[in-house]
Amino acid sequence: MDLHRLTAHELSDRLKKKEATPEDIFSSLQKRLAETEGKVKAFVRLADGRLGQIRRTPPQLHGRNAGLLSGIPVCIKDNICTEGLATECCSRILAGFKPPYDATVIRRLHEAGALVLDAKTNMDEFAFGSSTENSCFGPTHNPWDLDRVPGGSSGGSAAAVAADETILAVGSDTGGSIRQPASFCGVVGMKPTYGRVSRYGLIAFASSLDQIGPFAKDVHDCALLLEAIAGHDPMDSTSADIPVPDYTKSLGKDIKNIRIGIPREYFVEGMDPEVKTIVTEAIEKLKSLGASTHEVTLAHTQYAVPVYYIVATAEASSNLARFDGVQYGLRVKASRMIDMYKRTRGEGFGAEAKRRILLGTFALSHGYYDAYYLRALKVRTLIKNDFDKIFKQFDCIVTPTSPTPAFTIGERAQDPLQMYLSDIYTISANLAGIPGISVPCGFTKKKLPVGLQILGKPFDEETLIRTAHAYEQKTRWNKTRPSL
Ligand code: GLN
Repeated sequence: MDLHRLTAHELSDRLKKKEATPEDIFSSLQKRLAETEGKVKAFVRLADGRLGQIRRTPPQLHGRNAGLLSGIPVCIKDNICTEGLATECCSRILAGFKPPYDATVIRRLHEAGALVLDAKTNMDEFAFGSSTENSCFGPTHNPWDLDRVPGGSSGGSAAAVAADETILAVGSDTGGSIRQPASFCGVVGMKPTYGRVSRYGLIAFASSLDQIGPFAKDVHDCALLLEAIAGHDPMDSTSADIPVPDYTKSLGKDIKNIRIGIPREYFVEGMDPEVKTIVTEAIEKLKSLGASTHEVTLAHTQYAVPVYYIVATAEASSNLARFDGVQYGLRVKASRMIDMYKRTRGEGFGAEAKRRILLGTFALSHGYYDAYYLRALKVRTLIKNDFDKIFKQFDCIVTPTSPTPAFTIGERAQDPLQMYLSDIYTISANLAGIPGISVPCGFTKKKLPVGLQILGKPFDEETLIRTAHAYEQKTRWNKTRPSL
């Protein structure tokens, strides 16, 4: 049996029974990588196309999550700090940056006994994008169809899981960057509630929207990885001091009394007809499992994309101000300091980063601040109120994750507006701070995966896991793997 094909919980059983060792798992991944990574390109900076060492840290098995992921390999998106290991957000401006510390999620993974791979996954530069084409290392390819994108911005993490090049992966989601690539690659991906997972050590894109979350081959693994990384952290003032439940307790429960809202605004124009059929069937499946579904309204949905692109670019322009050639990564030398700043930023940032700095600076500038940024914040509150109202009566909301399956590489690269619309169903959850999961729910005729999104109440990841697991157990879409 090829160990790389197994899930974390299956591997944990084997490790406990001493039928395999962590070294066996690692060499199985190494073998797999040699076959597939040349085509997929999920990782960046791989020496000789091989995984480096596993990051061996002295065992620190003392936390709440001690030993939860013992011996299980996990790979990390390139925007999460790993001590002494290059972390460049796939941007030239961070070339050579080796953080002097580990992000809290890395520390937690070590506590859980996970084997953090010494290799980072590809992403859109600074997580700006929906396709992983905006990386200074070039695009990642979708394991289901190598001519297509894996989605983004955490496309490398999603593709690595889908291609069995890792067992688990960690990504970040600011407007859909975990859920959308999970949907495009046929894996499970979750954006936890804002504040559930510490952002300490996540290189910020938009601080009020960013959340770190898990990628996995099934819902059980997603629950394990979330449990390992979640929890209060004094190093992140926005992390919530709320106990972390045992998420595996939500597995295997029925969904008989679950009340599901189906937002009318999500099933209108723009959705691919095949996606619509597949998602409608998935909703029928949930009903047949005993959940009740009701049409609901999220009246401000049409404003989510414009509001997001004001708030997110405003925050990004401010967060990126620190990359000036002085403290981190690239420095393009010049005789005058001001020229050094200009040249470093001019050469270091890619086109999409520059576009966002311009948009964000404009929205925050004197004279436009009230008209754009302040107005966007007000509408953001209206969007959040829409969800609050629904969650008074319903346990969760079900929607497609993305209006289309994976598109071809290059198809939307020249059209930023078209690209921005890829996240139309995922963005509202970040604006409202609520959790969301994407779980595989079928395939198009071209054999491209489609994802079902389940959104929940703040800090109620349990209902998402419960609902997604009940659905997965009956459908097993995740058992179909790409033939690479
Ligand atoms: N695609 C969205 C954007 O480009 C979301 C990205 C993300 O979640 N990091 O901003």
